[in-house]
Amino acid sequence: MMDFQPHSTPRDTGWIEVIAGCMFSGKTEELIRRLRRAKIAKQNVKIFKPKIDIRYSNGDIVSHSEQSLPSILVENAKEILDHAETAQVVGIDEAQFFNNDIIDVCNTLANQGKRVIVAGLDQDYRGVPFEPMPQLLAIAEYITKTLAICVTCGNPADKTQRKVVSAERVLVGASDSYEARCRKCHYIPE
Ligand code: ZN
Repeated sequence: MMDFQPHSTPRDTGWIEVIAGCMFSGKTEELIRRLRRAKIAKQNVKIFKPKIDIRYSNGDIVSHSEQSLPSILVENAKEILDHAETAQVVGIDEAQFFNNDIIDVCNTLANQGKRVIVAGLDQDYRGVPFEPMPQLLAIAEYITKTLAICVTCGNPADKTQRKVVSAERVLVGASDSYEARCRKCHYIPE
């Protein structure tokens, strides 16, 4: 995974970092790594995730490798503004589950001088861009695309392969129904 190293850290301004990729690419691990470093530097860090994602525990963001940080569950993107007033650094996980209000919310937070770090799935199981991630990628100063390893051939993978047939766009809490695949090995189940 690439390390986030801007040539110089912005001063007297906020900014937006987006960590985007498929499942099992280490998005949440990378988010946790950045937030931990901010905490070590005694910065006021607030972490949010949408209430829809209850896969492992209620109040924590948890990566597949089971690193975790305490987070605040919110019903919608605008709620983040109410809780983030004193924060210097705002982390948001599973951003694909928010509606497009998250775009304004991230801009508002960054305009208030905060460092905003957003992680999310950039494509659904069909390989279709998963809004609001494309919009967030467009407004971000810094973008990290995390790649997984294709389970079938070992190539770098940026697609999430669904292993079961379902019309639902997401199967929440069913990570064993998915695996990472490269472009060559990915297909849409039907
Ligand atoms: Zn492959």
